[in-house]
Amino acid sequence: MKFELPKLPYQANELEPVISKQTIDLHYGKHLQTYVNNLNSLIVGTAFEHADIETIVRQSEGGIFNNAGQILNHTLYFLQFSHQGGDAPKGALADAINTKFGSFGEFKKVFTEAAVTLFGSGWAWLAKDENGELQILKESNAGNPLTKGMKPILAFDVWEHAYYVDYQNRRAEHIEKIWNIIDWNVVEKRF
Ligand code: MN
Repeated sequence: MKFELPKLPYQANELEPVISKQTIDLHYGKHLQTYVNNLNSLIVGTAFEHADIETIVRQSEGGIFNNAGQILNHTLYFLQFSHQGGDAPKGALADAINTKFGSFGEFKKVFTEAAVTLFGSGWAWLAKDENGELQILKESNAGNPLTKGMKPILAFDVWEHAYYVDYQNRRAEHIEKIWNIIDWNVVEKRF
């Protein structure tokens, strides 16, 4: 399968000031494009040549896993934003958050802590486990909840390339602002 950049549901400047156009141009336009190009080259002649992205993430390792993971992770990441985002989830996802964490505010606190304290490059995830329960995961590098049999729901990228242009070393400030552009309509559908 030849992979392509996912189409963004917004213009590159639309998430400002939370994420600048410059960061979208670099992070989506350059970093994600590189993962796509790399994976398309790496899978030629392998068992993964015609596989979908989830299958590759579940079954591969090494360079193929790293690039496939980053394509899936960034697709979930970039498609969950809107300049009209923020607020809080509704429906079944809201119920599951309240059951697991007590309140949306408490969930945000615990999730933010996970994202801020993740050492090095990686991803903070909200995922649904095999019992339908929500879990917060800290994954290094290209890690995705799929490899643990869980469904990814919400993705925060804490690689420095996600925030360094706009926030320099202030990861916590970036994480705090990201909540304001989460499109919960998109995230609720993943649950
Ligand atoms: Mn990234």
